[in-house]
Amino acid sequence: MNSKKTQCIHSGTLKDDVHQGTVSPIYTSTAYDYVNVDINAYPRYFNTPNQQAVKNKISALENAEDGLVFSSGMAAITTVLFSLLKKGDHAIFQNDLYGGTHYTITTQMERFGIEYTFVDSMDWKDYEPAIKASTKLIYVETPSNPLLKIIDLKALTNMARSKKIITLIDNTFASPINQNPIDQGVDIVMHSGTKYLGGHSDICCGAALASRSLVEGIWDSAIKMGGSLDAQSCYLLERSLKTLALRVNQQNQNAQQISEFLSGHEKISNVYYPGLTNHPGHDIAKAQMSGFGGMLSFEIRTDPNAFVKKLELIKSAMSLGGVESTITCPAQTSHSKISAEERLKVGISDGLLRVSAGIEDTDDLIADLEQALTMI
Ligand SMILES: *Cc1c(COP(=O)(O)O)cnc(C)c1O
Repeated sequence: MNSKKTQCIHSGTLKDDVHQGTVSPIYTSTAYDYVNVDINAYPRYFNTPNQQAVKNKISALENAEDGLVFSSGMAAITTVLFSLLKKGDHAIFQNDLYGGTHYTITTQMERFGIEYTFVDSMDWKDYEPAIKASTKLIYVETPSNPLLKIIDLKALTNMARSKKIITLIDNTFASPINQNPIDQGVDIVMHSGTKYLGGHSDICCGAALASRSLVEGIWDSAIKMGGSLDAQSCYLLERSLKTLALRVNQQNQNAQQISEFLSGHEKISNVYYPGLTNHPGHDIAKAQMSGFGGMLSFEIRTDPNAFVKKLELIKSAMSLGGVESTITCPAQTSHSKISAEERLKVGISDGLLRVSAGIEDTDDLIADLEQALTMI
C-alpha cells in the first residue's frame, strides 16, 4: 500500500468484527475496561479506537512510524514545541511562519525561559550561523504562508542532523499528497488538519507525525496538556481523508491554471506559486514535492477589498484547504497581529491576496476571476 490513493482509502481502517461493516465503527466511549485489556484506553491518552485509526492513516500518508491526532493545529504545534523545549534551550524558526505560530513564539517562549531566533531567509545556509550550543530545534514551513517560498529540506536536515538538532516542519500547505518531509530527513511533521486533511471547512483538528521514540516523548506531554480529539471528529477526519488524494490533485491543477492566468494580467503585479517556472523556489519544489499545492498568492494593483467583493464564486474566507475556493487578504487576516512594519519586511503588502484553490471546475474559477478583474 505505497500509493497515496490506496492509503487514503484503506490505511488504519478499523475492522468491524461484530457486524462486518465496511467502514470503521465509531466508539464514543470515554470509559474502558482496565482489567482484561492490553491498553487502558481513554480519550486524553490518545489511544481510543477512532483516535488510533485516523492516526494510523495519517502516519501511513506521511511515511511516518507513528503519530498523534490533536484537537487543532495549534494544539499539535504547541504540544510538540513545549514537549521538546525547556528553560535555557534555544530554538530557531523560519521568519514567515503561520501567523498563529509566530504569535505564540513571540508571546509565550520568553515566559518559560526559552530563547529563540527568527531567520528571515529560505536559504538553508543562513540557518547554520544562528545555531548555538543550546539550540534544540529548527522549525520551518515550506511552501510558506502566504508567499509560497521554498526551502531545501534535504540540505537543511543534513546540516541539522550533523549537529544533532531536531528538525520540524508545518506541512499544512503541501498536505501529505504533495510532500512527505520525513523522506527528506525531517524529524517531526505537523499539520493543521483543519485545512487539507479535513478538507471540507467543517472540522478543527491537528496532527504530529514522527519516529516512534519521538512520538513517545510528545505523547508524554500531550496527555498532560490534553489537546486530544473526540471520536466523532476522528471519524469525520478519517472519512475526509479517503478523498484527500483526489481533492489535492484537483486543487493542484486549479492553482496551476489560476496562477498562469493571473501571471499575464495587467491588473496583477506579482504571482507567487511554486509551480510557475519563474518562481525562485521552483526547482527545489520540483525536486522535493510531488505536486505544487493548491495555494497561491498575488498582488493586485487596485483596492483588494473592492476586487474580493466582485467575486461571485470564490468566497472571502480566512481559512484554506477546503473543497470550495477561497480568498483572503493576509494583511487583514492571518498576519494582522504582526506589525505593519514587520509585515512589509517579510514582503506582505496590503494588496497581497492569497487564494486557496478548491475542487471546482477550472474554467469556472478563471471566469470568476476574469469578470471581477474587469469590474475594478
Ligand atoms: C491554520 C494553520 C495552523 C493552525 O491550525 P488550527 O487548526 O487553526 O489550530 C497552523 N499552521 C498553518 C500553516 C495553518 O494554515
